[in-house]
Amino acid sequence: MANKLDSKIPSGPIESKWTKTKFDYKLVNPANKRKHSIIVVGTGLAGASAAASLGELGYKVKAFCVHESPRRAHSVAAQGGINAAKNYQNDGDSTYRLFYDTVKGGDFRAREANVYRLAEVSANIIDQMVAQGVPFAREYGGTLANRSFGGAQVSRTFYARGQTGQQLLLGAYSEMMRQVDVGNVELRSRREMLDVVVIDGKARGIIVRNLLTGEIESHEADAVVIASGGYSNVFFLSTNAMNCAVTLDFDYAIVRFDWDMEQRAHPGRSGLFERRA
Ligand SMILES: Cc1cc2nc3c(=O)[nH]c(=O)nc-3n(C[C@H](O)[C@H](O)[C@H](O)COP(=O)(O)OP(=O)(O)OC[C@H]3O[C@@H](n4cnc5c(N)ncnc54)[C@H](O)[C@@H]3O)c2cc1C
Repeated sequence: MANKLDSKIPSGPIESKWTKTKFDYKLVNPANKRKHSIIVVGTGLAGASAAASLGELGYKVKAFCVHESPRRAHSVAAQGGINAAKNYQNDGDSTYRLFYDTVKGGDFRAREANVYRLAEVSANIIDQMVAQGVPFAREYGGTLANRSFGGAQVSRTFYARGQTGQQLLLGAYSEMMRQVDVGNVELRSRREMLDVVVIDGKARGIIVRNLLTGEIESHEADAVVIASGGYSNVFFLSTNAMNCAVTLDFDYAIVRFDWDMEQRAHPGRSGLFERRA
């Protein structure tokens, strides 16, 4: 029997769908965060950032990846840059324009509420990455440089030579490893997620295979974040690494941090920012 895909997009005007929903969420008291555990599947840019942020907030995080090191995630391959509606050039860019370009560039298949959120947080992400030490290209005066990329009519792509993804991944990875060091994040590499444990419609754990021993393990948590990257091997031709857990997403309609679609390396449509949407 086919599952009904419920994307759980919040209601209301596009500009306030996620802002209002976030405000309506119940907060967890800082003292109680320790009592909650979160599983993060995948430690690419999406997963490593999520694990680092959740760990820093005080949650008990378990992060999983198939590689021997998170630095091998395919995020390392991204070259062109990362889009942000900072409008440094005063060339007419705005949150709405980045949203519009991304929806259009994505052939109108993206979830618009999530794309809007992506555009909204885009400027903050650059600041966060800079704070993590990512060496973005700069003008001679010291301000961050950006360029027009992927057919965009404005300059909004921030870059680190031709290795933006690698530099961003090193930043996210270092932050995650800092949380591993202080004991907030437990990293389990060489684990492949096979299934999600769903109790009363909520993801409460995962089943993984230990790729070194072949052993099947189960892990429980209060919440599960799937950040396992793009479609990859669903497609015959893809520039992405050949590993993905996309079929599980369809089974459970899980909330993803990134949905890389067919992966054609085009910052104007999906790109690095999507991990935050
Ligand atoms: C060649 C190339 C160039 C690109 N250029 C750009 C660009 O210039 N600008 C831009 O914005 N975007 C670009 N992109 C897209 C961008 O890199 C991706 O959208 C982004 O890095 C995806 O990050 P992610 O963390 O979601 O996935 P990934 O980095 O792929 O990480 C996936 C993680 O999930 C883990 N995983 C997968 N399956 C399982 C499983 N079953 N069990 C456990 N763990 C699992 C992996 O081990 C990995 O840790 C490019 C992509 C490629 C391939």
